[in-house]
Amino acid sequence: MKKVTVVGGGFAGLTVALKLAQKGFKVHLHEKSARLGGLLGTEYGEFGMAERAANSMILTDRSEKLFKEIGLDLTFPLESSKKRFIFRGFPKAMPLNPFEILKVAFTVIPRVLFAKASLKPNAGETLKDWGLRRLGKAATTYLLGPAMQGIYANESQDLSASLIISPLFKKDREKFRGTISGPQGMQDIVDYLHATLQQLDVEIYLESDIDVSNVDGPVVIATSANAASNILTKCAPEISKILARVNMSSLISTTVFFDKAQTKYKGFGCLIPRGLKLRTFGVLMPPYIFAGRNKNYNETWIMGGKNNQDLLNYTDKDLLDLISKERKSIFKRQDSILDAKIFRWNQALPVYDLELEKIQQELSQSPALAAKDVFLHGNYLSGIGLSKILERSERLSEEIASQHG
Ligand SMILES: Cc1cc2nc3c(=O)[nH]c(=O)nc-3n(C[C@H](O)[C@H](O)[C@H](O)COP(=O)(O)OP(=O)(O)OC[C@H]3O[C@@H](n4cnc5c(N)ncnc54)[C@H](O)[C@@H]3O)c2cc1C
Repeated sequence: MKKVTVVGGGFAGLTVALKLAQKGFKVHLHEKSARLGGLLGTEYGEFGMAERAANSMILTDRSEKLFKEIGLDLTFPLESSKKRFIFRGFPKAMPLNPFEILKVAFTVIPRVLFAKASLKPNAGETLKDWGLRRLGKAATTYLLGPAMQGIYANESQDLSASLIISPLFKKDREKFRGTISGPQGMQDIVDYLHATLQQLDVEIYLESDIDVSNVDGPVVIATSANAASNILTKCAPEISKILARVNMSSLISTTVFFDKAQTKYKGFGCLIPRGLKLRTFGVLMPPYIFAGRNKNYNETWIMGGKNNQDLLNYTDKDLLDLISKERKSIFKRQDSILDAKIFRWNQALPVYDLELEKIQQELSQSPALAAKDVFLHGNYLSGIGLSKILERSERLSEEIASQHG
């Protein structure tokens, strides 16, 4: 039985280990920290649960299959989660006025019908420039910018249109059918993956700092880009240098439990456009997304990104004061805080910027890794979200099987 080493026990490492073990490989999984899951996980406290990072995963055929394979029940969102708000004076389901909607419709619909290719972004074009060119100012500021900053945790002028928009034109693109989680939150996914890997005899080493230059057989590096750069310093210095150029940004996810429920705006959450002197990217409303998350009313406030790194140095009190101040502007409410769970993710997420566009190109053309039987995996390669990471786990395991099966 051929051995494969997987380095990193986040969602990328766990899912690629699963796919490889299912193909009959003997998998050794090395995780540097004392727990599996990486960014993924849930904390349970007196006032309710708080997600450490991701609060749900996109439902695709692949993610549904994954849940089945690991024996985890799919938890579907509540009807209320279908409503999503964007702040423009107050939270609005549609932030554009009728004139702006008509303008977008007249610009975009003819292109979608008769000249779809003209909507494709240019290489080296920022998301903001693409939006201004193809959708106009209002739609870029109040729809495209907030929506993408909600996923990529950075502002549209710092994002690459090609990395974000081009995949939407792919013919074999997976259909998005909503969002899912586990009954006890995202920690369920980690726990059920862990249990399934044990059943498949995957050897899991926690607190392991493995030197990959001494490993025989294929190696999958499933860590963040900056960790991958460090891991490859000795065995693939040229790739290590390329990966060191990936810009990373920090995020803070704060779940705040309040003494009273906010009932005026019931939905998935509210995104906050830039340029309004508000520092929050978005507010999630867990009690209105999944059942059983309403022990005490809570909201998850997401802040950070490349232009807000200073927030990482805020004390808990400063952060909660900022949230209370911005909450007053957004929801016009001042409720007492019962408890808060703050997760600071320092340099945790890749910035999907123009530099990453170049880096992905360089990596795809470099023979250095193939020669060394090293495969890269993680959220800086083919998408930041879990469904995209899962797709890559499947593709990578097929590639390794075709070379070593
Ligand atoms: C606040 C926030 C909210 C998010 N919300 C969503 C969401 O709702 N939906 C969604 O789909 N995505 C969301 N994401 C993105 C998603 O959570 C991440 O992209 C994904 O979890 C990354 O998984 P990963 O395995 O690639 O990396 P990580 O989770 O970073 O895992 C990498 C692992 O590698 C380990 N490691 C590092 N160095 C070494 C080493 N030398 N040896 C061994 N192990 C090592 C680390 O300890 C870690 O466990 C969110 C992210 C954040 C921060």
